[in-house]
Amino acid sequence: MSIDDRRAEETESERVARHQRVRLRRLGLSCISYAMQIALAVVIALLGAVTPMFVAGYAAAQCLIVAIFYVAFRTGLNLRSREPNLTLAQVLAPALPGLVLLYELDSAEAQAALVLTTVVPLLYGTLDLSMGSFIVAVMVYSIGYMVVVFSHGLLHTQDGLLFHNWILLASLTIVMPQIVLLSALINRLRRTLTERNDEVREAMARISVMAVRDHLTGLYNRRWLMEMLDRERTRCQRAPYVFCVGVIDVDHFKRINDTHGHAVGDEVLKRLGRNMADGVREIDSFGRFGGEEFLWIVPATDLDRAMEAAERLRRRAAELVFAGDGGAQFSVTLSIGLAQNDSDRRLRNDMLLRLADAALYEAKEAGRDRVVAAPRDAPVRPVARPRLRERGFD
Ligand code: GH3
Ligand code: MG
Ligand code: MG
Repeated sequence: MSIDDRRAEETESERVARHQRVRLRRLGLSCISYAMQIALAVVIALLGAVTPMFVAGYAAAQCLIVAIFYVAFRTGLNLRSREPNLTLAQVLAPALPGLVLLYELDSAEAQAALVLTTVVPLLYGTLDLSMGSFIVAVMVYSIGYMVVVFSHGLLHTQDGLLFHNWILLASLTIVMPQIVLLSALINRLRRTLTERNDEVREAMARISVMAVRDHLTGLYNRRWLMEMLDRERTRCQRAPYVFCVGVIDVDHFKRINDTHGHAVGDEVLKRLGRNMADGVREIDSFGRFGGEEFLWIVPATDLDRAMEAAERLRRRAAELVFAGDGGAQFSVTLSIGLAQNDSDRRLRNDMLLRLADAALYEAKEAGRDRVVAAPRDAPVRPVARPRLRERGFD
């Protein structure tokens, strides 16, 4: 089963739970970034640029942020938000402790060195935020930096803005728009990727339909029917079980083509096929076996009950009226050959189909428009070569 199939089958609550797990995993990854920033703050404290108390407060603030997001994802609080990933919040939350740390540093050089690490959460935002949210995040960070640099330069040092402060502001002015540009590019790439993914998914869905459906009638095709037949046979091997197959052939179909043309013949196959498919049980498998022949797999049913159902199917089809050439109306009849497989005989599928085919042949010989069942203990005789080849058994 492919990932897409599994996702199609999962319930809404399973889907939400899967998304929550992904969010928690991402939060776990961002913990590495938080831990590294705390480690850096410890190094700065060891170098004497900030006090250990300050670093302790800084670390506590970072841990609190992680804890809040953890609780939100664990309890499902985030699901109340329009943006359940809480990406914007996760990008903005570390800005405050980061900026306070920057402010606390007593030199513009140290600030310049640290600016890079405080930009990191912003970079993660490029992967998930919409352009609008991302610009909001960049604005918050830029304004925050400017406030830090100006207030630091003007208040902290009391020397006014120094050369270093100007350099820092200038580099931020250069870096921030480029981050926005990069984010726009990533956004476009993401959109293109999503569109391509959707196209591939649609193509895959079309291909999987084509792989199991007959192009003319839209019914299941031979490949699918053979798979279903394999499944039924496997059941016979596991436990006491009985099932039947019916080979259904339209009588004198060639005449319909000859009298009314191929297009009318096609129409007959389509309507007749749909009519029969609607007439079988939901658990049955029904499809076009090839040409004007259909195959019907009747699970958990013995020959007597299959015989009754086949009679109903035959009569139902005979009631259909088709419009032929020049407004002429006509109906068709069916010949049906049935055969049973069970845990006692455990016939191979090709043998079972031979039996059904032989029964169909008998129905034709006996005058068509009837159902014939192969006796339960019928020996499996080879059937005339051309008929087998027609069905692709050789
Ligand atoms: P019988 O009662 O013995 O089954 O006679 P029949 O004419 O139905 O059988 P025969 O095997 O002689 O002819 C089957 C015809 O079905 C011949 C073929 O041209 C036609 N046929 C097969 N596939 C299609 C199809 O997709 N569309 C149309 N219109 N005809 C098809
Ligand atoms: Mg035929
Ligand atoms: Mg026929």
